[in-house]
Amino acid sequence: MNRWRNIDDNLLKDAALFHGRLAPGLYLGFFMVKKARELLGSPEMIDAVSETVKCLPDSVQLTTPCTVGNGWLKVFDYGNFALTLYDKKTKEGVRIWVDLNKIPKDTLFYKWFTRLEKEKEGDEEVLLGEIKRLNVKLFSFSRVKVEIEKGKHLPLMACEKCKELFPVKNNVNGLCLSCQGKGYWKTIG
Ligand SMILES: [Zn+2]
Repeated sequence: MNRWRNIDDNLLKDAALFHGRLAPGLYLGFFMVKKARELLGSPEMIDAVSETVKCLPDSVQLTTPCTVGNGWLKVFDYGNFALTLYDKKTKEGVRIWVDLNKIPKDTLFYKWFTRLEKEKEGDEEVLLGEIKRLNVKLFSFSRVKVEIEKGKHLPLMACEKCKELFPVKNNVNGLCLSCQGKGYWKTIG
């Protein structure tokens, strides 16, 4: 599955399995990846960034060789429905986003994208149809140079409290992030 894929029935079937259903955001992302790739040409190695945690990362993982796990896809929680594909060597690439000014105001897509209305039953089918019809007309793009430090193997240390290994850069008073009270969890029971 780790390869470039076109938007065809096989992809849509796999998408429903992988993501749970063919969500509008996921489908929209396929067209964004396609357009960005066309604009980028074909560098040997491509990296990707998704600027939202919703749907778009899965669009990238399903249609490109870039995954979160292999490190070629970075996911930032900016909340922008935008993505960048770029040449791993030169760091130059294309950032593409859904341009609010280009969305026809009389579409359900506009209401959905701007969260004007709560989704109703049957909306998704309409949305998918609109996305298929409008697709590239919804996007704007720009050429960008990406400024992300290459992932390094950071030195580790053992936390004085929980004894787990963690990156030294997170160290405060010998404690890991969780033991500093910055964790996302607390022990129960
Ligand atoms: Zn700890």
